[in-house]
Amino acid sequence: MVPSLSNNGVLLLLSPVDKAESPAMLKLCQPEAHRDRIHRRDAMRLTPEVYLVGGGPTFAFGLSNDPDCHVYLVDGGDELALIDCGMADGDSLDRIMENIRQEGLDPSRLRHLLLTHYHIDHAGGAAAFQERFDLITYAAWDAAEALRAGDEVATSLDVAKRAGFYRADYRFRPCRVDRELREGDRVCVGALELEVYETPGHCDGHLSFLLRGRALTYLFAADAVFHGGRVVLQNIHDCSVTKSAESVAKLAGLEFDALLPGHVAIALRDGRKHVEMAHDTFQHLFVPRSFM
Ligand SMILES: [Zn+2]
Ligand SMILES: [Zn+2]
Repeated sequence: MVPSLSNNGVLLLLSPVDKAESPAMLKLCQPEAHRDRIHRRDAMRLTPEVYLVGGGPTFAFGLSNDPDCHVYLVDGGDELALIDCGMADGDSLDRIMENIRQEGLDPSRLRHLLLTHYHIDHAGGAAAFQERFDLITYAAWDAAEALRAGDEVATSLDVAKRAGFYRADYRFRPCRVDRELREGDRVCVGALELEVYETPGHCDGHLSFLLRGRALTYLFAADAVFHGGRVVLQNIHDCSVTKSAESVAKLAGLEFDALLPGHVAIALRDGRKHVEMAHDTFQHLFVPRSFM
């Protein structure tokens, strides 16, 4: 799959079917210079303060290894933060570091790691990142224990392995959680500030972050809601349709420009409309379609 930036500010994943049509699509969407930049570089500067620096090729843009989620970087000036870190499997961590350098940023300025939830495609690499960098690590109060224990049952890694999502020999390495977050908490990254929203449903201990940046207001929604009003509800012990609906209703009440989810397409403008689509479906007592 390859990424493409449409003319309404939506970063798209082109499926293998779409790929056959990609030259024409890209030509319609983007000036030549912009396309070249996207395809030549392995990191994406979304705006002057937010970058996409990692994510596997299947459900992200192939900036790091599968099945990493989207790994975002927030540049707060004298400090950098990562929103999720992927699994650090193989050379994924090194690829993410190289992507950061390629954007002209110094990885030694990384000070914060915000974990949205304990699924390993988002948080499995936290211990490896902590070994490499002096990071303050943040997670939800009700996710911290499972992360500190590397609890493969609480995080549903056991069933996800059996279902074939992950290698059977992948181990969830316990990691530090330095600060447990609750609704309304704020995390400062240099001159920027992220607001914390508890958004369970996809799983327990799931957080979303709102960043009022200089360029835009961003919602880092992780796996709570996706482009096109989609969700991911799975047959795991802590997934809840009703909690997901409540979380989506909460996010639909926020004002923001960019919807930055944990996988697939990204909307830099009009991000709210995707959350409203999911909220509307829930309000009619249906369950939004899954992005998978
Ligand atoms: Zn997840
Ligand atoms: Zn995910």
